Amino acid sequence: MPEKMRVVQVPEPKGPFEIVEREIPEPKAGWVRVKVEACGICHSDSLTKEGHWPGIQYPRVPGHEVIGVIDAVGPAVAGWRAGQRVGIGWHASHCGYCDPCRRGDFFACQVELLTTGISFDGGYAEYMLAPAKALALVPDDLSSIEGAPLMCAGLTTFNALRNSGARPGDVVGVLGIGGLGHLGVQYAAKMGFRTVAIARGKDKEALARKLGASHYIDSQAADPAAELNKLGGARVVIATVTNGEAMAAVIGGLAPHGALLVIGASGPIPVNPILLINAKRSVQGWYSGTSIDSQDTLNFSTTTGVQSMNEFYPLEKVTEAYERMMSGKARFRVVLKMVEG
Ligand SMILES: [Zn+2]
Ligand SMILES: [Zn+2]
Repeated sequence: MPEKMRVVQVPEPKGPFEIVEREIPEPKAGWVRVKVEACGICHSDSLTKEGHWPGIQYPRVPGHEVIGVIDAVGPAVAGWRAGQRVGIGWHASHCGYCDPCRRGDFFACQVELLTTGISFDGGYAEYMLAPAKALALVPDDLSSIEGAPLMCAGLTTFNALRNSGARPGDVVGVLGIGGLGHLGVQYAAKMGFRTVAIARGKDKEALARKLGASHYIDSQAADPAAELNKLGGARVVIATVTNGEAMAAVIGGLAPHGALLVIGASGPIPVNPILLINAKRSVQGWYSGTSIDSQDTLNFSTTTGVQSMNEFYPLEKVTEAYERMMSGKARFRVVLKMVEG
């Protein structure tokens, strides 16, 4: 086995990516070491790159859409062994004993909330260490490089939809057909919702329908709220865009008790309170999920045929890959691959 590994580190907030050699580290108690096969580049990696997350210690290796193979297991790890292929996502660890953890709200842990690529080094690397709590078992028939984006983009959309309260047959909107939205449309359709894709312009309509949307709303050509109401109103719209105005424009198209489920980070959303009051509509956020949610995402995707559409780059081209993701022009997720396949 080699003693050194290559990692991509961010030396300081807004600093350039640096490819450096490091010693391959040993896992401590409760952690494993993973030989990384692929890591998706997520928009949230810009939090590490640009220094927008408080308290990051630099240098830091970004990356929280990781799939690889466990190659060493630290002390006191139960249930995992070397050779298993695993995914590692955003939510990596929680204490398990604080009040929010005791209520099952691990995302709100007040003691030991660890985020991959932010609190510790992530997957832009040949090897990484991860808490055993972070691991999702990857199904045998899912390729690492094809599946990596499911660990954040997939998980976030899948988990938001399956916890949204919508039932098969309900009208569910997916606002934005990009890195998150192209997965959201597939999940919504496979879950049995009347899936409405909402995007600007006509050019995404054919793709949205191919991905499973039964309706398409061009928000430039028509008022999306009015169009949703023609379908009876949406039980849920998941908002994957980065534009608060675009989110606000669909709220009037929510059915009574309907919810706008926000998973895209945007500026302020200008909400008209009357629209919330008169039909008991709500605007709420959704946090991605834990490792078992990721595992459910991978299994659901494999059994139903949901796939991320990806562009691939080798580790050496990380700067180009990151800029491609940030440009918003990638179709649709960008993945660093450390192995052939
Ligand atoms: Zn992410
Ligand atoms: Zn806790």
